[in-house]
Formats: sequence, C-alpha cells, structure tokens
Amino acid sequence: MIPFELSEPTSLAAAVKLLNPDDPTIRPIAGGTALMLMMKAGVFNPEKLISLRKIESKYSSISADASGLKIGAMTALGMLERSADVKKVTPLISRTLRTLSNVRVRNVATVGGALAHGDPHMDLPPVLMALGAVMTVVGPNGERKLPVEELFAGYYETVLEKNELIAEVHVPAQGTRKGAYFKVTTGSADDWPALGVAAVIEADGKTVKNARIVASAATDKATRLKATEALINGKTVTDALLKEAGEAAVAESEFIADVRGSVPYKRELMKVYVRRAINGALEGKDGLH
Ligand SMILES: Cc1cc2nc3c(=O)[nH]c(=O)nc-3n(C[C@H](O)[C@H](O)[C@H](O)COP(=O)(O)OP(=O)(O)OC[C@H]3O[C@@H](n4cnc5c(N)ncnc54)[C@H](O)[C@@H]3O)c2cc1C
Repeated sequence: MIPFELSEPTSLAAAVKLLNPDDPTIRPIAGGTALMLMMKAGVFNPEKLISLRKIESKYSSISADASGLKIGAMTALGMLERSADVKKVTPLISRTLRTLSNVRVRNVATVGGALAHGDPHMDLPPVLMALGAVMTVVGPNGERKLPVEELFAGYYETVLEKNELIAEVHVPAQGTRKGAYFKVTTGSADDWPALGVAAVIEADGKTVKNARIVASAATDKATRLKATEALINGKTVTDALLKEAGEAAVAESEFIADVRGSVPYKRELMKVYVRRAINGALEGKDGLH
C-alpha cells in the first residue's frame, strides 16, 4: 500500500471543503470496509483520505417519527440491525441486515458507504429503493434531496459529485405496505448475492394496489423493475400472473455475469425469485437461498 495523508475533520461541512471535484485520489472514508480492500488490492491509490468518523454525532444516529426513519450516513449497519425503531418502522430493513455480510463487517460498515460505493451486489440499496428512501446530499453549494433509486449510474458508478457527501437517508415508514427481500447466494447465506430482489407492496388481500420491485446483483446496478410493477399493479395475484411477472422482469433487466453466475443462470434465477419475492411480500415471508 502506498502512503497517503489522512484528514479527520470534525464537521460534515469541513469534510466537504477538503474534497476536490477534480481529484479522484482524494476520497471520503467512512467504515473503510470497501475502500481498504480496494487499496490493498492496488485498485485505488489515494493521495488523501477524508475520514468522516469525527463529524457531528447526529450523522451516526437513527430517529423515528410518524413519517418514517432518519438515518445518519455514518450509522453502522449493525446499529440499524439492532435498532428497535428500525424493527418497528421498517421491519424489512431489520430482516435484510441479518444476512448482510457478517457481524464484524456490519459493526464497522456504514449506511453512507453501502450506498456511495455503487457496488451492484449490495443488499441494502435495493431494499431502500423499494421502500422509497430519499437521501440528503451535501456539497459546496448546500444540500439536495436525491431518491436512492436515482443514485446509481452504472457498475460501481453513482451520480454523486466527487465533492458531495451523503449526509442522511430518510426512509418512509413501511406502514401497511408488505415487504420481502430475497437474497440468492451461491455460498453461505451471508455471502454476496448472485441476485437480490426486494418487493414492497400495498395490497388488499392478494390484489396489488401499488408495487415497487427492485433487482440487484444480477444487474449492473440496482434497478427498479417498472414494467413488472405495471404488470401486477391493480391485479389479483395468481400463479399465471406470477409467471408473467418473472418473464417481464427478465425482459426488462440488463444482466451481468460474474463469479456467482453466468447471464443464462441469472436470467433463470430472476424468473423464479421475482415470483417468490412478490408472493413472499404478500405473505410476509423473506427468503434466503
Ligand atoms: C468480507 C465482506 C463481506 C461483505 N458482504 C456483503 C454482503 O453480503 N452484502 C452487502 O451488501 N455488502 C457486503 N459487504 C460490503 C459492505 O457492506 C461494504 O463494504 C460497506 O457497506 C461499505 O461501507 P463503509 O462505511 O465501510 O464504506 P467505505 O469503505 O468507507 O467507503 C466506500 C465508498 O463510499 C464512499 N463513501 C463512504 N461514505 C460516504 C458518504 N457519506 N458520502 C459519500 N461517499 C461516501 C467512499 O469514498 C468509498 O468510495 C461486504 C464487505 C466485506 C469486507
């Protein structure tokens, strides 16, 4: 590893000032679980890292009100997992975290890092997208709101400027919406997924009023499956409709091959697991495979 400079600003505003929109060798570092691996592998050689560990403590906290959750970007994934507020307001997030990597990683990795890294294999982004979460992003000209579903531009690419930081994430309360996340791994349950499918559905019995379905890991970025959503919205779920939904999801997805599976394999997974995720949401059951 080559030497680099480390700055530890004590406010988010000061951290933003230390970033340079034109210099990709200056990067923020949160938990460091992704960045350090890239540095050890020689994929990323920073000049300077801006640590976010000492910024205001409100960015490491979770609060809940009637509208939902406010989660600071520096909140560790383990805190989300154990939070009583998260369990109550968005139970789908608590359930998802149980198999997001292992406890050591979850205790260090942060919500901001899980989003900003732009890795399509992450478990949290599809779930936050399906729930309709919106981030507050801070840059030199102030703050802007950015829905998580608009964050990803491609494989490991986001729309964030190099001098912008994710400050917080607002997650609307799950309320009466039913949700499921299906993580399909080819190794242990907490391995990286070959496919992730999140479904959050407002329903009257088996009749879908409004569905948000997001696929990740098999695709180059976490992606809302809008044609599939449109297909099931307003309809009563039957085996025939679920089969059509699986086929619609395959038709609208851009697949990638990786060490966890070829494109043909992931197409077959998508067909099956979109069906299971819709059914799982309606029945309140997640799935791990
Ligand atoms: C062994 C192992 C197994 C894993 N398994 C899984 C898994 O099964 N599922 C899963 O979802 N994930 C998994 N992960 C990934 C893990 O979730 C990510 O590494 C982690 O979420 C990144 O968060 P971090 O705080 O450590 O980010 P860092 O490594 O600090 O940063 C990651 C990127 O985000 C940027 N960044 C960080 N914070 C901000 C911010 N607030 N604003 C803007 N940019 C920011 C950094 O500059 C960097 O580019 C695994 C990781 C490891 C090491």
